[in-house]
Amino acid sequence: MKSYRVATIAGDGIGPEVTAATLKVLTEALGASRITFEDMPGGAGHYSRTGEVLPDDTFAACRDMDAILHGAAGLPGVNYPDGTEVGNDLHLRLRFRLDLYANMRPIRLWPGVRSPLRDFDGGGIDYVVVRENTEGLYASRGAGVLLRGEMATDTLVVTRKGTERVARFAFDLAQRRKGAPRDGRARVTVCDKANILRSYAFFRAVCDEVHGDYPGVEIDYAYADAITVHMVKRPDFYDVIVAENMFGDIISDLGAATVGGMGISPSAEIGDSHALFQGAHGSAPDIAGQDAASPLATILSGAMMLHWLADRHEDADLRQAGDRVEAAVGRVLAKGDHVPRDLGGQTGCNAMAEAICRALSEED
Ligand code: ATP
Ligand code: MG
Repeated sequence: MKSYRVATIAGDGIGPEVTAATLKVLTEALGASRITFEDMPGGAGHYSRTGEVLPDDTFAACRDMDAILHGAAGLPGVNYPDGTEVGNDLHLRLRFRLDLYANMRPIRLWPGVRSPLRDFDGGGIDYVVVRENTEGLYASRGAGVLLRGEMATDTLVVTRKGTERVARFAFDLAQRRKGAPRDGRARVTVCDKANILRSYAFFRAVCDEVHGDYPGVEIDYAYADAITVHMVKRPDFYDVIVAENMFGDIISDLGAATVGGMGISPSAEIGDSHALFQGAHGSAPDIAGQDAASPLATILSGAMMLHWLADRHEDADLRQAGDRVEAAVGRVLAKGDHVPRDLGGQTGCNAMAEAICRALSEED
């Protein structure tokens, strides 16, 4: 049986706490002989101590091991000599060097978690935002132009190659996921502003072309402004939403808010041969070191990692372990004895992980 090696970068702020919690749960689900986690340094704190954000050894481990599990990176007040923030540069460098072009953000309302959307308490929200992760407006980062203190411009870049690959990712996902839009139809919604900008019209046109290869999946279109209304009013309509980088960033945070917030929202950044898994939240320095963070986003990202590895290596054991982690999280939340603080409860980071481990072992 294959055993897997995962490069683990705990990073900054709450990163180490949520990572430790996740390793506990994944090891409980899978057994220590099937998966080893190799702790690698990096991030803003590491930069302030050593002058390196992403050490060569850490990059090599991320490139050569089977997957990457990341806590979070970024600390206020840690700057490069030119005064710009180090922030989550570790993560951005990995994203670009490993070409992690599809950012997958599941939006799922777990049983027991109250949605701020009153009508949807107890279920009915289960879709995935696929954010293009390497181009779009954010590709202009650092390259925008400030003209004589009077005007600033940035450039939105949409390429055929970049759009085709993320669209294909979204359609493949819609084809195989067991998602549950209200009407049961596999569907990709293309989120853009094709009515205003040529770049978005091109994004939509390329998605349309890719759709030609997926007759079993429905295509649907939504302008980025209108989709914010629909995500609040009828979130149970959605299955997979594909969006340009900045729109994807914005609507995935909105989606997270509708199902309990960043502390329960996982994310995966996936390329053709590498993938990085991390909660959707940042390093939350305000609550770091207090055992107050919710580890659920990272634990659910860990389950996504098991599923991704399972698909790549046709490993049914791993798939089952990923399913079991999700089911254990669901049972703990549904029971309601252990609720993290950001969801209105009292349970700390470590106790949350222990409750999920117990749920895993009780089921055996
Ligand atoms: P980034 O710039 O990296 O996206 P951010 O500025 O958006 O970071 P986050 O670190 O994501 O901010 O968190 C915003 C706030 O949400 C935090 O300050 C914290 O109070 C809360 N928060 C974030 N993650 C968690 C978590 N896992 N558990 C509990 N609270 C959290
Ligand atoms: Mg943020």
